Amino acid sequence: MRFRIENNKLIAGKSFAPNSLRISQFNIIPQPPLNPNFSFNPELQKLLIGKQLLIDDLPYQLEEIQNHYDHGYITFRKGIEYAGKTPVCARCGNNEQQWFAIYPCTRCGEDCLYCRKCLMMGRISECTPLIGWNGPAPDSSLPSKMLEWQGTLSQGQLEASERVKNAILQNKEWLIWAVCGAGKTEVLFAGIEAGLAANKRLCIAAPRTDVVLELTPRLKAAFPNILVASLYSGSTDRHLYAPLTIATTHQLQRFYHAFDAIILDEVDAFPYTVEESLQQAVIQARKQESAMIYLTATPNAKWQKECLSGKRAYTTIPARFHRHPLPIPEFTWCGNWQKRLKKNKLPPNILTWIKKRLDEGKQALIFFPHIPLMEKALPVLWALTPNIEAVHAEDPERKEKVQKMRSKEIALLLTTTILERGVTFPAIDVAVVGAEDGIFLESALVQIAGRAGRSKDHPTGAVTFFHYGKTEAMIKARRQIMSMNREGVKRGLIDL
Ligand SMILES: [Zn+2]
Ligand SMILES: [Zn+2]
Repeated sequence: MRFRIENNKLIAGKSFAPNSLRISQFNIIPQPPLNPNFSFNPELQKLLIGKQLLIDDLPYQLEEIQNHYDHGYITFRKGIEYAGKTPVCARCGNNEQQWFAIYPCTRCGEDCLYCRKCLMMGRISECTPLIGWNGPAPDSSLPSKMLEWQGTLSQGQLEASERVKNAILQNKEWLIWAVCGAGKTEVLFAGIEAGLAANKRLCIAAPRTDVVLELTPRLKAAFPNILVASLYSGSTDRHLYAPLTIATTHQLQRFYHAFDAIILDEVDAFPYTVEESLQQAVIQARKQESAMIYLTATPNAKWQKECLSGKRAYTTIPARFHRHPLPIPEFTWCGNWQKRLKKNKLPPNILTWIKKRLDEGKQALIFFPHIPLMEKALPVLWALTPNIEAVHAEDPERKEKVQKMRSKEIALLLTTTILERGVTFPAIDVAVVGAEDGIFLESALVQIAGRAGRSKDHPTGAVTFFHYGKTEAMIKARRQIMSMNREGVKRGLIDL
């Protein structure tokens, strides 16, 4: 597509008229004033509000888009901006040279620079406008009673819930640092209800699709009369306009100044922590005046420091819903276990630990740092029982194996860090083999320990870190858990 300017308006054209330019070549993009008498297309309004979409994402003719722009209802932004000579992708924030490429573009008839980083969501090049909505928001009429959840909050949850509500209503940033098993989803309900009642558009975002899939039915059940859009790769809600959106951080790349509040779950989880484009997506999806709630059980070292030095507003939920303390990891030296494993053996204390669980009929989750080591250990353990499975991220039967563990068909589940978070088995013991490995960060070890003792009926569980040399991460993880337990006792949230 190419544009020319007439009467201080952009005119989009499909032909390559000689005086036309690519959108990235204009210094200023004119924005016609909003014509209040224009009768706009309400479907287009719902599709575009708070979004930044490509012309290909819109099931409308160019003429209709142009007409809405002419009357001030649609905005065009440059898909590729230049900061000096450096190109920047306006959608994903990419500014790294190696993530751009040039191709002969049939849309503008020139060699055109495009962003490879967000190519999966449709190509953004120098001739691509990002299309947004500039008109009024759709009318929304909400039921008078929105929250149908009947449960009760623990004292710790209640305090955090008040904080979330205030932050949403007052456009603040707030971190909820809640231990594994504290019940953080319920903590959001009052804030969501208050936000909706104040006509705010809300979003719960999470880095992992699993989390979106788990949260969606819970939020729909709590707010049965509220439209909830659930967005992940391949979801059918892609064009749904809803007061409450649950989305992966990837999907937020299609949004622009959309939300009055974003609740970001698992702020410390991969890939959000390493991909700047996802952090950028969250920033872009927020309105300028908006609230931001972060949820995590394991904030990184920088955030912990900011919390403790008073630089970051936060609330802890140091105790689980069932008022029992978190299991404290035990450190057990197991010698050079990798060397033994090469000879198809495991250290005797690990075997004894596993055998004890098998004898008692207690299920155990056993973490390994790397897939090949885990796969080497599997046949060694077959000598103890055939009731074992091993899972990792690329395992096509991952879901089935986790289900087998849940239904108690198997006694032992070997896993990589893929199951460090998100899974709940009611009554298990947990071991880490090779806890000294660099892959086991403080946060990973806290999450792993947090798999034990989750349910009210089985609130305790053993957590053992088998190691060949203690690490800083192990010590910090244990310290964090113990400090949460102490705080829980002090605040009267744990029964002794
Ligand atoms: Zn082009
Ligand atoms: Zn991009």
